[in-house]
Amino acid sequence: METITRNLGEIRYRIADAALRAKRDPQEVTLVAVSKTRTPQEIKKAAELGIKDFGENRVQELQEKVKALRNLGIKWHMVGHLQRNKVKYLTRMEDCYLIHSVDSYRLARMIDKRGRIDNRVMQVLIQVNTADDDNKFGFQPAEVIPFLEKVMNLKHLKVMGLMTMAPYVEDPEEVRFVFVRLRELKERIIERQLAGIEMKHLSMGMTNDFEVAIEEGATLVRIGTGIFGPRR
Ligand SMILES: *Cc1c(COP(=O)(O)O)cnc(C)c1O
Repeated sequence: METITRNLGEIRYRIADAALRAKRDPQEVTLVAVSKTRTPQEIKKAAELGIKDFGENRVQELQEKVKALRNLGIKWHMVGHLQRNKVKYLTRMEDCYLIHSVDSYRLARMIDKRGRIDNRVMQVLIQVNTADDDNKFGFQPAEVIPFLEKVMNLKHLKVMGLMTMAPYVEDPEEVRFVFVRLRELKERIIERQLAGIEMKHLSMGMTNDFEVAIEEGATLVRIGTGIFGPRR
């Protein structure tokens, strides 16, 4: 538990430092603590240290944690691949704040449908594969604007920005291009002025590469190991 305190202090310092290096306000960057595989006690500890945003990548695990950790004011982020048959659990979950991983039109339609049933507008990010590897989920960059033109009329889904994931490499400079591409795509989308589409967020950067991502404009960094230590 002391490790979490120490790690969090260091990560916050490094986030601020990277932002300042890029002449950005550190307040523009929100730390999303990725808590998959961690115990409710570990999450509670991080919440007590001021973390409000937590990310999970499996719906069932997210449901269990929501149940175990009520009344802490946590905003939950779904950061992993989402199956359409699981969407209803998220639209029912009041504290599900943002889905980072919309990667198909069928998934977007399902989120809109379940959002209508549960009478809410779901905030989402579009996952984009800017890394040139075929293993990752996400749209190709060229597919994103045509996709947004299709979803801009859905009333129960609100696009708030883009998300990407870089492959693990020893030297994060090697994946800077992954983040540059996402930022450039965001700029092209803003130029289109698509009604109802917001480009407030770029969700990019994990433990190994968050400083480079912040230098390229990340507003949400998703950090697990850097806070909680190696996953068991
Ligand atoms: C696990 C995970 C992270 C956090 O990875 P770390 O390397 O532990 O910081 C970030 N984003 C997604 C989508 C993840 O699944």
